[in-house]
Amino acid sequence: MMHFHILTLFPDMVLRGLRESIIGRAESAGHICIEALNIRDYTLDKHKKVDDYPYGGGAGMLMQAQPVYDAYLEVERRILERREKEGSADKRTPRVVYVTPQGAVFRQEMAKEFAGEEDLILLCGHYEGIDERVLETIVTDYVSIGDYVLTGGELPAMVMVDAIARMVPGVLTNQLSGETESFSDNLLEYPQYTRPENWNDRTVPAILLSGDHAKVDDWRLQMAKQRTQERRPDLYALYEKTNPVTEKKRK
Ligand code: SAM
Repeated sequence: MMHFHILTLFPDMVLRGLRESIIGRAESAGHICIEALNIRDYTLDKHKKVDDYPYGGGAGMLMQAQPVYDAYLEVERRILERREKEGSADKRTPRVVYVTPQGAVFRQEMAKEFAGEEDLILLCGHYEGIDERVLETIVTDYVSIGDYVLTGGELPAMVMVDAIARMVPGVLTNQLSGETESFSDNLLEYPQYTRPENWNDRTVPAILLSGDHAKVDDWRLQMAKQRTQERRPDLYALYEKTNPVTEKKRK
């Protein structure tokens, strides 16, 4: 089972979003476990304040180090306690991902890699971000979900949990779909069709009805390549680089 621990100012937003559909069922079935801690519960400020003005001036407010650090210590304590109880062989310190536009852009390979962790801590910023000193103390990975700025780290954390959880064995009922879909092999997925065969005078490509699996596979590969070339030339260049032999033979 993989355990996700989300440090956030909005735990309900995160849990409500993630406890639906496939990810929600994966949690009920015991393949993953998602907990969200409210950073505000750990502030020592008597007014429950968690933010303050940035030194040196500038726009907005910053989340303070103390509540973030104390919330992290609580998660770490819970993880160690659980591992001890379960007799877990995992002695690694859990990775702590700070979701931030200043991180490496999240990709499918990262999702697969993170899915190999027993525990993953995701730290969500808000306002203008978080005091650098606590980031330097606890963060192991800086990850962005794309080159744009959101108001908070909750949606990025949800995006990451969703993508990572799909890669945890047992979460997808058809594990093969996780291996053949977009980004596996640096290609986007081929077009797909379902019943009826004829919809609004548009028919399904005949080859998909032929029953010839080798031909279907070949057609799907050609379609995947064409689609990737058109929509994501950057990804197609990577595909060509990683498949030089096949590509040379075909030219
Ligand atoms: N001042 C920060 C900057 O310029 O890099 C942006 C802060 S943003 C308004 C508030 C929080 O939202 C961040 O601390 C981060 O946790 C989250 N966030 C915003 N955009 C994100 C993105 N593209 N990827 C991941 N997290 C993001």
